[in-house]
Amino acid sequence: MAATKLDLVKAGDWGIFSDMKKPLVIAGPCSAESEQQLFETARALKNEGVEILRAGIWKPRTRPNCFEGVGAEGLGWMKRAQQELGMKIATEVANVKHVYEALKAGVDMLWIGARTTANPFAVQELADALRGTDIPVLVKNPVNPDVELWVGALERLNMAGLKKIGVIHRGFSSYTKAKYRNIPQWQLPIEIKRRFPDMLMICDPSHISGKREYIREISQQAMDLGFDGLIIESHICPEIALSDAAQQVTPAALKEILAKLIIRNVDTENVEYKESIDELRNRIDQLDDELLEILARRMKVAEKIGQYKKQNNITILQTGRWEKILEKVFKKGEEHGLDSEFIEKIFTAIHQASIDVQTHVMKE
Ligand code: PEP
Ligand code: MN
Repeated sequence: MAATKLDLVKAGDWGIFSDMKKPLVIAGPCSAESEQQLFETARALKNEGVEILRAGIWKPRTRPNCFEGVGAEGLGWMKRAQQELGMKIATEVANVKHVYEALKAGVDMLWIGARTTANPFAVQELADALRGTDIPVLVKNPVNPDVELWVGALERLNMAGLKKIGVIHRGFSSYTKAKYRNIPQWQLPIEIKRRFPDMLMICDPSHISGKREYIREISQQAMDLGFDGLIIESHICPEIALSDAAQQVTPAALKEILAKLIIRNVDTENVEYKESIDELRNRIDQLDDELLEILARRMKVAEKIGQYKKQNNITILQTGRWEKILEKVFKKGEEHGLDSEFIEKIFTAIHQASIDVQTHVMKE
């Protein structure tokens, strides 16, 4: 696919964030459950300095007969937080009716959930329903790690005239049990940032972790990678939450998580830092040159081997030899303190390239 450009308005001009100080924070319960639960949570969050309230009104649940949200009634409770506490309010929309109800209620910002982003028909319907408005929309990554599907949703919204678009990274589901509920696969949001440097990047450590004790480390990683903000599920009494109980934190716990975050800058005026980093980067550039030269030399040798194999009518693939190489590089890699997964990836790619060169020789 050709690289596309999106016509975006920078988040500082959305009229949502009072300043762009990192991290921008969106917090609130997974679901609005009752007026009391929502309002008490909102008030406690507001007291901790949170300005944007999230709450799910319609909940996309994996299995039927789970709590599926209170529906449009909950929008009235959110409006109360908006009017009485001066908070901005955000909720998830998954179909045209949700868009209609949310816009009618005066919701300030919308997000599209991971299950919806995975479905281009649904995203197109949302984009069409939103045409003509300029409401900010955050697009969660699709449940499966497909960057084009994610970009496709951004494009559909943008083509419908929406310019206040950001992304939420919430991790990717997997069949295997892992530490986190959803595997982060940070390379996907990094690719989004590479393609769209102006894109607002929000991390959702609640849905990545699935467990409140991991929220801090994931939030820190997001800050280390230069994300703009965090959307964190917070409930006045997480233990009795009707959805995602294990990953919600109290407003007080949220404050503590935020207070401990180390915020990194993109750049600095510090001359000493600049000089040191420039020198280190020069060294990296030199090493990259050397790597390329060595790789080219290695490929020349592989090509010669290919010619001998051809003359002697020998198969290209020699599994015994490949096993030996792997064994050797693992051992040496370990001696150098290199990660074995990294070694395997690099050498598999090198080996494949050698096979390709030799295949080419055989065909000549
Ligand atoms: C949510 O934010 O409550 C939600 C349902 O998230 P996701 O779409 O990431 O599963
Ligand atoms: Mn949730």
